Amino acid sequence: MNPQYSYSFNSGDGKNKALLGGKGANLCEMTQLGLNVPPGFVITTQTCLLYLENKLLPAGLLDEVHQQIADIERATGKTFGGASEPLLVSVRSGSAISMPGMMDTILNLGLNKQTLTGLIEMTDDPRFAYDAYRRFIQLFGKVALGIEDEKFDSHFNEVKRAAGIKADVALNSEQLQEISNRFLKVVHEETGKPFPEDVYEQLEIAIKAVFNSWLGKRAVDYRREFHITPDVANGTAVNIVTMVFGNMGDDCATGVGFTRNPGTGANEMYGEYLVNAQGEDVVAGIRTPKPVQEMAQEMPEQYRQLVELRNKLEAHYHEVQDYEYTIERGVLYCLQTRNGKMNAAAMVKSSIDMVKEGLIDKERALLRINPELLEQLLLPQLARNHHNQPIAQGLPASPGAACGKCVFDADTAVRLGKTGEELILVREETKPEDIHGFFAAQGVLTSRGGKTSHAAVVARGMGKACVAGAEDIKVDVRSRIAMVGDILIKEGDLITIDGSNGNIYLGRIPTIPPSFSEELKTLLSWADSIAKLRVHANVDTPETARLAASYGAKGIGLCRTERMFNAADRLPLVVDMILAQNTEEREAALAKLFPIQRDDFQQLFEAMSPHPVTVRLLDPPMHEFLPNEHQLLDEIDALKHYLTIIKGQRVTLETLAKPHELPAPFNRLNEEVVIDALAKKQMMLNKVLELYEVNPMLGHRGVRLGMSYPEIYRMQIRSILEAAARCVKQKTPVEPEIMVPQVITAQELIKVRQYVDEIQAEVESQYKLKLNFKFGTMIETVRACTRADRLATTAAFFSFGTNDLTQATFSFSREDAENKFLPLYEESGLLQDNPFETLDVEGVGRLMKMAVELGRKQRPDLKIGICGEHGGHPRSIRFCHNIGLNYVSCSAPRIPIARLAAAHAKLLEEAAG
Ligand code: ADP
Ligand code: MG
Ligand code: MG
Repeated sequence: MNPQYSYSFNSGDGKNKALLGGKGANLCEMTQLGLNVPPGFVITTQTCLLYLENKLLPAGLLDEVHQQIADIERATGKTFGGASEPLLVSVRSGSAISMPGMMDTILNLGLNKQTLTGLIEMTDDPRFAYDAYRRFIQLFGKVALGIEDEKFDSHFNEVKRAAGIKADVALNSEQLQEISNRFLKVVHEETGKPFPEDVYEQLEIAIKAVFNSWLGKRAVDYRREFHITPDVANGTAVNIVTMVFGNMGDDCATGVGFTRNPGTGANEMYGEYLVNAQGEDVVAGIRTPKPVQEMAQEMPEQYRQLVELRNKLEAHYHEVQDYEYTIERGVLYCLQTRNGKMNAAAMVKSSIDMVKEGLIDKERALLRINPELLEQLLLPQLARNHHNQPIAQGLPASPGAACGKCVFDADTAVRLGKTGEELILVREETKPEDIHGFFAAQGVLTSRGGKTSHAAVVARGMGKACVAGAEDIKVDVRSRIAMVGDILIKEGDLITIDGSNGNIYLGRIPTIPPSFSEELKTLLSWADSIAKLRVHANVDTPETARLAASYGAKGIGLCRTERMFNAADRLPLVVDMILAQNTEEREAALAKLFPIQRDDFQQLFEAMSPHPVTVRLLDPPMHEFLPNEHQLLDEIDALKHYLTIIKGQRVTLETLAKPHELPAPFNRLNEEVVIDALAKKQMMLNKVLELYEVNPMLGHRGVRLGMSYPEIYRMQIRSILEAAARCVKQKTPVEPEIMVPQVITAQELIKVRQYVDEIQAEVESQYKLKLNFKFGTMIETVRACTRADRLATTAAFFSFGTNDLTQATFSFSREDAENKFLPLYEESGLLQDNPFETLDVEGVGRLMKMAVELGRKQRPDLKIGICGEHGGHPRSIRFCHNIGLNYVSCSAPRIPIARLAAAHAKLLEEAAG
């Protein structure tokens, strides 16, 4: 027997989203729960794949479709293509993962000249029938036949203009008939064929169009951006659903809702509806809808049904739902439900609330939140004391503040975004084809549409600031300007939007970092109690260390000492150290740096006490602390020039009567200063030329510096150990760890360990105490991975530096790769992801696994962590958990993400095992 290509809503397995898509599975589930869903059926994702493979609908599918339609006809008493009581359906896409607005729905399918007459008879409402007809022709024309909206819109607007009408609802049936006729002509002209009259032909074309949309550019881009791979979602299902009408009069409505407030998480009715309208009107933001609370007065009985629907949905799904409904002649139909996409604050609050309400357990409360989402909670907010007056206000559609230059279309946003500009995408309303503009912009501003409009939903999903429906702003995309009253905003002008309250400001307003809510603290404390991985921070200063500690860091996994070198008051000392002609000179410079470094470390240890602090000895090549060659040449040139001027002026002035009364700037002292500066710059230039390396990242850096200039490493080791000794003296518990970078052989470690042993003995006798600390190595070269057992004889801990290890494994330099060929590699599928963003588990990960195994074989209690950027990314964290690391270390703002991801890693490991 053939596989079954389709399932009616009465029979499909509501749990099988892979086969039926999310929308289809939920329509089945709701139907079988007894909720009022219009009759319909789902064509499976497998059928889609078969079609795309063979470019042909599988034999037998259309027979099945006839059978399914016959069942619907029986259930509804209507006939598909019938001259009386015609059955109309919607054709809707839906894959395993919800991709909002990615693939368009066709409504009112089944209309033709004959069924139109039937519909007029049935409803006794020609206006309604023609309205449905013109909507159908346009949607079918656009979605199934690929005709641009503008082709239809221009006719639509022409008829409106001719009739002197503003709102669509004011069109009468003759005008709508006129529009329908024009639309039919448009289709004929554009496709060279008349609009299909046969309703089964319509259905077949529509089904194929949905299938094809799976490989459309929009869908493919979206899947790439969100890493939706075939194991997550493969193919789209097609849902064929009996039409119900929210636009048959004032006892009809259509709306969307959330079972909780997606902005705050509050447990309350939330949503918007429109009386006498069809579903698309709410989503597209053509009319501005009313808050659902008003329905309690306007349609009390339907409101009661809606509250009941909402309660049943949450009780069944144990998850906040985002649902769509239509009220036809007083009867409520549910058309869709899916897990609600909410902002981070709302997800956190609803997790805590639902645990308290007994709806879910703590594990589910953690797992329902995507760790990356928490980044939003660390989103910038506008400084509270700014005195700017908003020039307009829209709806607070997605929280956080954003500032940038206005751009009026997505392509420009992408172009400018590449140059690093911060942008606000400003549109009348957004559509799925604008999606690439969202990625490029910091925030989105629209002049039309509600909190459930496309712009709002997509921005919320991405955690970008969005203000929607700011009706006072007149956006003129063509002239690339926007007007607010008589204020003119041109493309490129700076504006600030506040997605938390809907305010829009001219210019840039300073932002402040957000604070941690009590709810988030509770949630993350649950996460910590489950997670096996500890979370450390990559920080270099006491201030960021305190911030990291307040975000819950349990240590510092990477302190880069060169950041301390770069501070303005230290750089001259560092330069002296580099310019030193011999060891004595270098030691003299280091002696000045030493107390500064020691105090830095002491403050850092205090800020993180009692947790471990891993300090990396100097890593970058020395030339990084010197200006570059061109800059020096310019400066030397300028100084020479200046010297000539001084000399010239002095000579001129000395020929005057009273040379001893020369003004200050022209004395000899001044000249000497310039000569000194010149000499120093010249020395720097010589040093820069001497230090020149073809490939500095593979050159004289890391432990190699420690081998050539032991006095530098010794100074740093002494600073660390004395800082620790001072902490111990004042009874501040500390756990310093000395980490050596770029190691390739155990001999290097043994050598550095000798410095440590000597200095330790000196410091211990000087301070009269015993020091407690660890000595270890970064693992960031391929050789370190393959020789990890040997390294573990000297190293008590390993820390994977996955940035360098990735470069080494791929033999790419990151900058060149990302600027030149990596985008191509990703786009053409040569590489699935950018390995500098997503840890390459198959390649780099394999080396890591080898290093862990070899290292622990040598030293079973070897402590192992990761301090590369990947340490803050949930997928990499999961891998780190699975290969048995002890901790991950990441930048301060990613710590909450990492804490939650570490709990997920543990929970998902158990679920898999
Ligand atoms: P999306 O995936 O973009 O949400 P949907 O398939 O849900 O697209 O449909 C778009 C709009 O059409 C929604 O407002 C939906 O409620 C409405 N709609 C879909 N099917 C029907 C139907 N059978 N009757 C009435 N409205 C429908
Ligand atoms: Mg869709
Ligand atoms: Mg929908």
